[in-house]
Amino acid sequence: MKTVLIGVGQAGGKVTSSLVEFDHDMGFNSVRGALAVNSATADLQSLPIDTVLVGQDRVKGHGVGGDNELGAEVMQSDAGEVLSALDGRITAEAEAIVIVAGLGGGTGSGGAPVLAKELSRVYDVPVYALGILPGRGEGAMYQVNAGRSLKTLAREADATILIDNDAWHSSGESLEEGFDSINRSIARRVGLLFASGENVEGVGESVVDTSEVINTLRSGGVAAIGYASAEADDDPDTNVNVVTSVTRNALLTGTSLPNATTADSALLVVAGKPDRISRKGVERARKWLEEETGSMQVRGGDFPLDSERLASLVLLGGVERSARLEEFMQQAKEAREEAQRQEQGREDADKLFQNDDLDNLL
Ligand code: GDP
Repeated sequence: MKTVLIGVGQAGGKVTSSLVEFDHDMGFNSVRGALAVNSATADLQSLPIDTVLVGQDRVKGHGVGGDNELGAEVMQSDAGEVLSALDGRITAEAEAIVIVAGLGGGTGSGGAPVLAKELSRVYDVPVYALGILPGRGEGAMYQVNAGRSLKTLAREADATILIDNDAWHSSGESLEEGFDSINRSIARRVGLLFASGENVEGVGESVVDTSEVINTLRSGGVAAIGYASAEADDDPDTNVNVVTSVTRNALLTGTSLPNATTADSALLVVAGKPDRISRKGVERARKWLEEETGSMQVRGGDFPLDSERLASLVLLGGVERSARLEEFMQQAKEAREEAQRQEQGREDADKLFQNDDLDNLL
């Protein structure tokens, strides 16, 4: 799938850069353009891709400080500038636009849904979002912002692939320390998905095609991605179990949204040397995926890749009803109610002090 990526906010810019780097290192050439958009100058400076600063008249390049309403406003006012920066980058060859953003912050959280709406109006190709959900341990503001952003994004984008920041985070390091490795994990998995159908010489019947990615995401809403790999044998017959077990791991322990197993649609991409991919293994893995996801629409295909390993990449479409997502929306709702209670408390306290007659104290 030939994509044009737009990273919004700090996380968006960094993850987009990781995706560009991975695509380049692997020689896939599926990323045909990339742009980072932010309201904070400092966050744009270190990025190796082209950038656009928004909201300069409002926040003077200092960012929106976690205020996602302000993030949405500055994106709305400067959407024209972003669209002109994209002009010429989104050429006829682009098959999808992907907006990348951390949903818990300000610029990405507020800006991504606005941009999704604007881009959908202008371009015919699907506009997808790659949204990063704050980890469970991140503060209430992040949860509230992400809850609100996700609701809008799921409506405005053609599909939103969600990555839970806890999902690919190795234990023992803090979330911040882990960002670089999380970003590399995201780049490898999502980068392989984007490259599915691209890197293909000697096209065979079983090779995955871009349209299968697009059809899997067609139901819209929230999507997730799973991945696992293992050492492969030279003989495909001995790899039956390798294919089935990496597929099981990809879904059960390797998804971007833990416990997202019920889905409307799914795509199984098996990557590795073509002569090592066991057809029987792929058929069994697909059947298993149908049973496990409860979906009647499980597509599949190979991704020829010169590697000693075999990998399974599972794309799940329509995972809104997953336990993790329901838990997250509940957490976001409670955090919002708590924030409203505190706001009310502050207002009450303000009134109390305003009415306080200090003369009566004695
Ligand atoms: P913005 O610049 O205002 O859009 O805010 P951020 O992009 O910093 O969004 C904050 C959210 O993104 C929080 O939930 C962070 O945990 C997450 N985040 C920030 N930087 C990164 C990063 O490099 N990688 C990942 N995976 N998440 C990040």
